[in-house]
Amino acid sequence: MAAPLPRRTSVHSSQRKILPSAFTLPWLVVVLSLVGGAFLALPFQVQSNEVDGEELITEILREESVHRLQQLGEVTDGDGYLERTFLSPASFRALDLVRDWMQDAGLTTWIDQIGNLHGRTEGNNITAPTLIIGSHLDTVIDAGKYDGSLGIICAISALKALKASGRLSELRRQIEIIAFCDEEGVRFQSTFLGSAAISGSLPPAIMQVSDKSGRTVQDALKEANFEGSAESLLQLKYDPQSVGGYIEVHIEQGPVLESLGLPLGVVQGIAGQTRLRVTVKGVQGHAGTVPMFMRQDPMAAAAELILLVEDLCKHPQSYIARGRQYHPSANEATTGMLVCTVGQISSWPSASNVIPGQVTFSVDIRAVDDTEREAIFLELGKRLQKTCERRHVSCSLERKHDAEAVHCDPELNSKLKYAVQSAMKSMGVVQVNDVPLLVSGAGHDAIAMSRLTKVGMLFVRCRGGISHSPVEYVMEDDVWAASLALLKFLQDMV
Ligand SMILES: [Zn+2]
Repeated sequence: MAAPLPRRTSVHSSQRKILPSAFTLPWLVVVLSLVGGAFLALPFQVQSNEVDGEELITEILREESVHRLQQLGEVTDGDGYLERTFLSPASFRALDLVRDWMQDAGLTTWIDQIGNLHGRTEGNNITAPTLIIGSHLDTVIDAGKYDGSLGIICAISALKALKASGRLSELRRQIEIIAFCDEEGVRFQSTFLGSAAISGSLPPAIMQVSDKSGRTVQDALKEANFEGSAESLLQLKYDPQSVGGYIEVHIEQGPVLESLGLPLGVVQGIAGQTRLRVTVKGVQGHAGTVPMFMRQDPMAAAAELILLVEDLCKHPQSYIARGRQYHPSANEATTGMLVCTVGQISSWPSASNVIPGQVTFSVDIRAVDDTEREAIFLELGKRLQKTCERRHVSCSLERKHDAEAVHCDPELNSKLKYAVQSAMKSMGVVQVNDVPLLVSGAGHDAIAMSRLTKVGMLFVRCRGGISHSPVEYVMEDDVWAASLALLKFLQDMV
């Protein structure tokens, strides 16, 4: 049974007045919803003589969403911390809970052969392609309550609000929410198992990948009473013709929205990534006997190279030659379109009284523009060699990993932008035209889904930009803003 849900008191009558007239419901709808059991899970009763339709919708989008985020955040395998990995006991308890919420929103539900939970409503035109809205139910270890869960709960709330306003049956196309079973990849170190299966990009060899206990994906599926055959996963692939787009609401996991003072942003794309390993070889020697002017010190060279990486990515326009089509936008620095990180460094023999013989370090380059990422890589290689020659050390650059950027669909993005503006207006926010365009430096299910259909993403402000941590937090009004924006987006399809 759910814990008592606090009643909302923060919406002012002046804000209510600017909610669209579609929310002005007859009392009958409210009463019917109650009789129909839509609110049986809630310990409070919406009284028809004290709440109007508009307030009912806000209760669903704000209070109920927030309450459900807390409830889902308690569903854990960890003792005193949140951990819900692929096919774990808690993941099945979460599936049961979210399935109830989907049914409460009027959706038909099922769990597929890899453990994704689906909730679907048919539109008036059954030949129209389906809009999929999704995010993931799994978490990292010692996770926050919003990463993944927010996107699922906002989607359920938006559809429940459509149902409460009597408009669910008026949708012109099919809407399907998918709560994906594995995005974080904690158990099998392989991300996007659920969304990759839906998009048909899951490699068959995944069945034999083992977790720490030695169980394979196939073992885990069979133990959970799934078929566990390669064929059963292949059949999960959706026909691209049957899907008209994918939308994901997700916490930003970065500080940009907070720094701009805005609750929501539209995602322009998910950054592509290049991972490099740089090896610098010098001449090992005694720290006390080799004069400074005679040294070939790879550590000092590495330090200069690391600063070069930083400067190159902070001021790319100062380095990259004209004609390479590098046109950084004015707000590039704040939106983080190009980010470079040296996160790992090691030296040999790593002793305080020895000039090292070798230093290796990693470089992670991310940009939403693949051409720019390539230009940065080439420029880094060129300047690295020059620096190493000048310092009389030898350097090599290994390309360890490359992933192309995913670009969100401009049409979906403009609809999301309009939905955000409309939601902000309804909430009484003054600067309604200010919808930042963001770049995601982190991976999401939208990457896998982009192999199936066009994608769009909405980012939600999170405190301090912190995620993958129990201190991860989204303000209640921002949860409301996200659910309301999604509702506005869906109303376009009514
Ligand atoms: Zn996530």
